[in-house]
Amino acid sequence: MGRLLIVSNRLPVSPEVDADGQVVFHGSVGGLATGLGAFYQRYDSLWIGWLDQPDDVALDRYSVRERLHDEHSCVPIYLDPDDVHLYYHGFSNETIWPVFHHFTQYAVFDEEYWEAYKRVNRRFADTIAEILQPDDILWINDYHLMLLPGMLRERFPDISIGFFLHIPFPSFEIFRMLPWRESIIEGLLGADVLGFHTYDYVRHFLSSVLRLTGHDHQLGRIVIGNRVVKVDAFPMGIDYGRFAEQAEDAETDQAAERLRRDLGDRKFILSVNRLDYTKGIPARLHAYEHFLAEHPGWQRRVGLTMVAVPSREDVEHYQMLKREVDELVGRINGRYGTMDWTPVRYLYRAIPFPELVAMYREADVMLVTPLRDGMNLVAKEFVATKGDDRLGVLILSEMAGASRELGDALSVNPFDLIDIAGALGVALEMDPAEQRERLDSMQGLLSRYDVVAWATDFMEAVDEMRAMRAERGARRLTERAIERIAADYEKARRRLLLLDYDGTLVGFSRKPDAAGPDEELLGLLHKLAADGANEVVVESGRSRETLEPWLGDLNISLVAEHGALQRWRGGDWIAAPVGEALWRDDVRPIMERYVERTPGSSLEVKQYSLVWHYRGADPGLGPLRARELRDALGTLVENYDVAIVEGNRVVEVKPASLTKGRAAVDFLESDDWDFVLAIGDGRTDEEVFHVLPDDAYTVKVGIAGSRAHYRADTVADVRMLLSRLVR
Ligand code: UDP
Repeated sequence: MGRLLIVSNRLPVSPEVDADGQVVFHGSVGGLATGLGAFYQRYDSLWIGWLDQPDDVALDRYSVRERLHDEHSCVPIYLDPDDVHLYYHGFSNETIWPVFHHFTQYAVFDEEYWEAYKRVNRRFADTIAEILQPDDILWINDYHLMLLPGMLRERFPDISIGFFLHIPFPSFEIFRMLPWRESIIEGLLGADVLGFHTYDYVRHFLSSVLRLTGHDHQLGRIVIGNRVVKVDAFPMGIDYGRFAEQAEDAETDQAAERLRRDLGDRKFILSVNRLDYTKGIPARLHAYEHFLAEHPGWQRRVGLTMVAVPSREDVEHYQMLKREVDELVGRINGRYGTMDWTPVRYLYRAIPFPELVAMYREADVMLVTPLRDGMNLVAKEFVATKGDDRLGVLILSEMAGASRELGDALSVNPFDLIDIAGALGVALEMDPAEQRERLDSMQGLLSRYDVVAWATDFMEAVDEMRAMRAERGARRLTERAIERIAADYEKARRRLLLLDYDGTLVGFSRKPDAAGPDEELLGLLHKLAADGANEVVVESGRSRETLEPWLGDLNISLVAEHGALQRWRGGDWIAAPVGEALWRDDVRPIMERYVERTPGSSLEVKQYSLVWHYRGADPGLGPLRARELRDALGTLVENYDVAIVEGNRVVEVKPASLTKGRAAVDFLESDDWDFVLAIGDGRTDEEVFHVLPDDAYTVKVGIAGSRAHYRADTVADVRMLLSRLVR
């Protein structure tokens, strides 16, 4: 197994000078690193990230690099102060952070920021390139490094890359505002697996990909050239054991006792977060104030402790927020406070771990109301400290990713003060048995799907994609494979070649009529047909009226409408016998209605089938309408012997008995072939592969699953094979 290279903006350690003047490296406790400790020891791993070295630590970089590597398995990246300002404070925190949290009014769009963002991402790519080995697996984290997967993919086409976004992905209507949106999407699509906290973010991302690049997905899988990108939700867990154990620790007991002494028998409402505008702190204070006003009976019987960890203090919006919160706390305490009661205890600082856990443990109500939050770990940590018999109620914003999992919290709309105030009332009065029941169910979930389970899940997805790539690689139509096929071809006396048309011999075009054969293709088919040992058959879903003018002059056989019509070499068109097509009168008006309802789509009326084309329709609407149409047709045609076939941006209804497979059998049985080759890209071609003998050569174009022996990336590869045969 290769090494695991974890990449994040910052390294999980930073240097400090201890009391003896020695340089020591401190781990950032509680971060991803602590959580992943147990997990990443399973791998031979390295962590790559920016080393934020304080000014007072004078160290020569060479020895730091060596010590970091040997003692902490870390590889540092140094950034100069300008880049830190432009890339980190600038693009990451003043552009991406607000936009991705739907705070567009705070977003700064600055070309200089963007240039720095690219520069630093490239810097990461360069460092990784120096140490990368072919078997390594890369796990890139978060919004600071969204270009990195693409940059690495360009240089290392076969490397395994997972990317996880720890913040929300915004709706397309917001994301589209970013002047650099295409580059960001392309950067991300360099990964094999893209992980988000919730399915909503997955949806947002997939819709942005579709709108900006035209790439659709199948169950979260996007095909880009010869690669597949898997997009999925992996809700991040916490290091559950660490919180549960700390809650039972003696140090925590002492802190809890002090806390209880201060609080007396008042109910304890707790709020913990960084001081960030996404966390909804002012709204939370307003809601609390509203609660006190509406429930005078609770005054002096409750207290809110509000921990706000300082964050990004040099950014203007954070300074403004700080002033606003200071004023609000002052106002509430001024208005409601008494000699012996402070309604809001405000702690503007980070809290040591045992004390933080004591607070969680003792809290009667945990008030978590971010306006938007990728996941929110605080909510989960609170639950983990409650052990088997403690009580407490979690009030959780429906805008936090965690709310998708924590259905037993009291869910609130963080913009709705009355809703939050109401939930406070419910929480404070909740029956102990109900509190326990809710906690039990959340604890069950969080202890099972902890941070290790989360990371394992994500890495398994990366592994799965790696295995798929290997399997695809083994079946690739390489030059060696082409030579093998050619050698058999040359030996053979009677050869049958079954070739699909669209997506196999020519590429797709926006207008189906524009995909006629070019000179190169006509030349190739002509040469193949000129060899007396060959029977060349083009099998297509297209109508006879289309195929005839395009390919009718060649000395080959044609199959139109998926086998319904056949024109054997030198002969006339023969129509397959089918019963009266009564279904057409039912199906046609429905398809016509979908043409009207879906601008850019069209109806094709063929002799045997009806086809609704939506390649020209809005990329979001087309697939949606296609599903609707399928549903609508499904019940309608139940009593007819017809099949509804979904092809490449088409929905087709045709007699069930007419398939390309059936036509292939006709040709197969017409002679004693000693070389059979079939090439196709679509689902209908699988029918052909299915009926051929095992020793036939079958080639699938594209990377969707197939029973074919070989896989070609593109139409060009198919033509390369055919040119080799006629050489
Ligand atoms: N936290 C901390 N010190 C504190 C308060 C909180 O280290 O004084 C931690 C807390 O335990 C949690 C993290 O900070 O793990 C906050 O994560 P969350 O996902 O809730 O919000 P974020 O700050 O990442 O937006």
